[in-house]
Amino acid sequence: MDAVTDTRNRPLRDLRISVTDRCNFRCVYCMPREVFGRGYAFLPHSQVLTFEEITRLARLFVAQGVEKVRITGGEPLVRHDIEKLVAMLAAVPGLHDLTLTTNGALLKRKAQALREAGLRRITVSLDSLRDDVFMAMNDVDFPVQGVLEGIEAAQEAGLHPIKVNMVVKRGVNDSDALDMARYFRERGHILRFIEYMDVGTTNGWRMDDVVPAAEILRMIDGEMPLEPAEANYPGEVAERYRYKDGGGEIGIIASVTQPFCGACTRARLSAEGKFYTCLFSSAGHDLRGLLRGGATDDELSAFLRSVWRIRDDRYSEVRAEATASLPKIEMSYIGG
Ligand code: SF4
Repeated sequence: MDAVTDTRNRPLRDLRISVTDRCNFRCVYCMPREVFGRGYAFLPHSQVLTFEEITRLARLFVAQGVEKVRITGGEPLVRHDIEKLVAMLAAVPGLHDLTLTTNGALLKRKAQALREAGLRRITVSLDSLRDDVFMAMNDVDFPVQGVLEGIEAAQEAGLHPIKVNMVVKRGVNDSDALDMARYFRERGHILRFIEYMDVGTTNGWRMDDVVPAAEILRMIDGEMPLEPAEANYPGEVAERYRYKDGGGEIGIIASVTQPFCGACTRARLSAEGKFYTCLFSSAGHDLRGLLRGGATDDELSAFLRSVWRIRDDRYSEVRAEATASLPKIEMSYIGG
């Protein structure tokens, strides 16, 4: 079945589902404590989509062309019984790829249940192997060892591949890039370096704090020579590079210096049921109201198509210091 396409002929292929706006970390580039501190008004439970509502929407998105679903948050593992949702999504006919992004803090406890529920692979965020740096970045003093034990538990549970996402910020953890590459190369996990992005309006983003992909590549290639590798599928976010000596691969997500909007096939669903067509959107399309208002599958499907067909997002191509302060949804709300 042909996927619905947008104004730039980009098919709807990927759906990122945020299942909560809450998190047990306060990463400074995503959920700064000054904003998301005590008293912050997170979404009340009644406004958050139920597992049944999420699964129904996922089924309708798949019918419009979605082949891959990524479960995100906030931190998805803080959502109660998340493995039940994994099992429901894993059973959606026509969904070829189901994955999840986590900060790893609860992974040691949840890995086996997620695997048994039908999850095949997973992505874990980790920004440094040094406790002082990592604890300062997650701002809840959560130690590196806790995440590493989560990754080990995921491997033991049979989740494969395991990808590790590192957001690189100049003067904060850029000097850790090589250590991270050595560590995860030895363990056969795919490390992906993410350029620091101006997502939302709360992280104080400045271009000066961005370490360009080219610079990161030079750092790694200087010690462990790399060569470009084919994309796994059209629209894949990360540029892949494999080690020339066969020692595995890394990825680079260069939204700032090498925009990839031209091939962007990603839709996003927030925990309260809003449909976003870009990570840097400032407004979404309410699906929860339609769902709870008794809309039929046909009505919902027509709405999904109508939104995607007029999509023309290309924020990263037009990004400038001036656009950084535009009202945009928060990373913690939409989950990357
Ligand atoms: S900026 Fe928006 S359109 Fe461009 S790649 Fe990111 S999500 Fe897609």
